[in-house]
Amino acid sequence: MRRTLGVPLPLTLLRLLLLLLLVAPAGCGRAGTPPVKGPQPGALPGYQVAGGDPVPDSPTLAAARARGHLVIGVKEDQPYLGQKDPASGVYSGFDIEIAKMVAADLGFAPDRIEFRTVASANRETALQNGQVDYYVGTYTINDNRKKLVGFAGPYFVAGQALLVRRNEKGIDGPQDLAGRKVCSAAGSTPYQRIQRDYPQAKLVGYDTYSACVDNLITGQVDAVTTDNAILQGYAAKVPDELRIAGQPFSTEPYGIGTPRGDTALRLAIDDALAHHEQNGDWLRAYRATLGLSGVPAPEPPPIDRY
Ligand code: GLU
Repeated sequence: MRRTLGVPLPLTLLRLLLLLLLVAPAGCGRAGTPPVKGPQPGALPGYQVAGGDPVPDSPTLAAARARGHLVIGVKEDQPYLGQKDPASGVYSGFDIEIAKMVAADLGFAPDRIEFRTVASANRETALQNGQVDYYVGTYTINDNRKKLVGFAGPYFVAGQALLVRRNEKGIDGPQDLAGRKVCSAAGSTPYQRIQRDYPQAKLVGYDTYSACVDNLITGQVDAVTTDNAILQGYAAKVPDELRIAGQPFSTEPYGIGTPRGDTALRLAIDDALAHHEQNGDWLRAYRATLGLSGVPAPEPPPIDRY
C-alpha cells in the first residue's frame, strides 16, 4: 500500500510545500523565510553578439535567420542548470547560459532565442524533426546517440549518483538498490544503466527528475538516480530532506545536441564553446549558476571536434 493512503492530508501538504520550494525562483521565498538561493540576473555575464552571418554553411541557422529567432531545446525543472520561472516564464541556469553564449557567437542576441522544454526521452526526435535548432540540457554524449544526432562539446562532465531521503540508512551506492524502488527519467543514460547493470532494483520511470524527487519526498520511491550535477541542485533546495548517497559511478560528458547532418553548426558551436572557455565567460556563468549548489568550478573538459 502506498504510504500516502494512511495519512493523506499532512503528506499532501508537505508535498505541496516542498514542490513550492523546488520551483521557487530566486528572491521569492515565503514570507518570513530567507529567499531560496538561485541565479541572480545581475551576476550573469553578457555575451558579445557576432554581427553579419557568421556561419553561412549551416542549413539550421539559415532556417533560424529566416524565422527570425533560434529555438533551443532545454530542461525546465533542473535547479541551477535549466529552470523555468513559472511566473515570468524566464529560463535560467548553467545550461541556459551555455545556450546563450553559443547563440551570441552564432549571431543571435538573447531576445532572439526561444527556449523550448524537451524531456530526456524526446531529445533525439526533437532534433531530427527540426523542432529545436540545438539542445542544451544535461545531454550525455555517447555512441548510440551519435548515430541519431551530432554533439558539440563536451562543455562539462558529470557522473551518475543517487539522491535519498536524509534519514535513509540502507543505500550507499547502486549495489544497495536490490529490491528498492529507484526512479529516473525515461530515455536517460542513468535509467538505462540501472536497467542493464542493476536488474534487481525496482526501476520506476517518469518524464522528469522533478517528478521522481516528488515521489522520493513522499516516500513512494527510495532513491532518485541521475547525474550528480542535477541531484546536487535538488538537494541544495531542500537540504533538510534530501542528500546525495555515496560516490558517482559513471562518466557523463555533456554535449550540445545538433541535427546530425549539420556539420557546420556543430563545428561552429565547438568554436563558440572554446572561445567562451578562454575568455572567462564559462567560469563566470558556472559561478553564477551551478556553483551556487555548492560545488566549486572544475576545469572545462577538452572539446572533441570530430
Ligand atoms: N546526462 C544523462 C542523459 O543525458 C542524464 C540527464 C538527463 O536525462 O538529461 O541521459
